[in-house]
Amino acid sequence: MILLTALLFAIWVVLAGVHLGLPLFYFTWMKRRAYGKSYGLNVVGDFSYLPSLTVIVPTYNEATVISRKLRDIAQANYPKDRLDVIVVDGGSTDETVEEAWKSIKSGVVKGEVFEEAERQGKTVGLNRGLKHATGEMVCFSDAECEWDRDALRNAVKYFSDPMIGSVSGIHETRLDRKALSVRVEDSYRSVYRMLRIAESKIHSTPVAEGEIQLFRRGQFTEFDTSIGGDDTCAALCMVEKGFRSISAEDVIFYEPTPSSWKARFSQKVRRGQHVVQAFLKHRSLLRKKGIFSRVIFPMEIFLYIINPLLFPVFLATTFFLAIISLPFAVFVGIATLVAFLIPPLSKPALTHITNNLTMLMALVKEVKGEKQLVWTKIEENRSKPLAEIPVATG
Ligand code: GDP
Ligand code: MN
Repeated sequence: MILLTALLFAIWVVLAGVHLGLPLFYFTWMKRRAYGKSYGLNVVGDFSYLPSLTVIVPTYNEATVISRKLRDIAQANYPKDRLDVIVVDGGSTDETVEEAWKSIKSGVVKGEVFEEAERQGKTVGLNRGLKHATGEMVCFSDAECEWDRDALRNAVKYFSDPMIGSVSGIHETRLDRKALSVRVEDSYRSVYRMLRIAESKIHSTPVAEGEIQLFRRGQFTEFDTSIGGDDTCAALCMVEKGFRSISAEDVIFYEPTPSSWKARFSQKVRRGQHVVQAFLKHRSLLRKKGIFSRVIFPMEIFLYIINPLLFPVFLATTFFLAIISLPFAVFVGIATLVAFLIPPLSKPALTHITNNLTMLMALVKEVKGEKQLVWTKIEENRSKPLAEIPVATG
């Protein structure tokens, strides 16, 4: 019995080291080594570099938000004569197309609307938009998010360095602070925001955000329409081509966070699953040299794919050991209490649990072959104007 306990304990220590210790080490190391540093780029900072830019907005049943989205784009701090919009509609059954044309014809913003006869998925729409774009730069942006006024201007400046292939932004939470699900999401976001910036400062971050992502037109040409995760796919594609794909800390967008657990969970599972699809598609990057292929990408694959699989194994081992060893049960009980009652620990602890659960679910769906290339949009995110949602502080 003692031997069994000792053996199980040894296994538990190794598991804890990998499952909890490795992510903790990576996050801490990234924060120390890179977060506060510079991007190491040769950027023209005086905004003299302002190329023409086409914003591509994919839509499926976005009648309630499309005119506010076009107005938001028009309000960007960017020369009007160098900005145009392409709305690519995936066969909406509501008034999206009419609303979009109405805004364009009334002169809110220069642009065009392309319609698909039926819904074929976001990437099909984005490919169509890319074909018709005429700007020197292209920017993808989802319909229900909004940008900080300087987001475009700030993003474009990074392209004055030829090393940069993709620039994405940082999510600033506008939320109803009362909802616990939103607070948990916010804590997850703050941890990952640090990671995205730190990885970008070292070289590149593999995960980008569809709310704002820019490229030089012609450098990124086509999405694989058989998988989701367009943003992450495009970021990895640019790294494969030898560029850097970054998330820039001064490129800020606002996106409502669903306050119902169900909506948030389904969105996170789908997004997580799409990240997995993109990672697997670009797995050959692991065979390349350099810090992205040797450290950043393997660690991200660990965080998104391997560690969620270890989660149930770790829980089961902990549970079993606690049953056969009272001292261990007491130790685990106290450690859990401490982790959840002390705020600086409860944030990462909650993030860890919700992340691993969502990713586990995402992996199950992926294995079952449910690709989720088309999905039900989250109505709650379109219900009230973002400007009416208070900006979170802290
Ligand atoms: P989420 O932010 O991950 O919850 O995803 P959304 O539901 O907001 O979708 C992202 C963007 O893609 C939105 O602007 C949608 O209107 C758009 N979209 C979703 N499905 C399709 C589609 O089948 N075709 C086109 N053209 N756009 C789509
Ligand atoms: Mn969205």
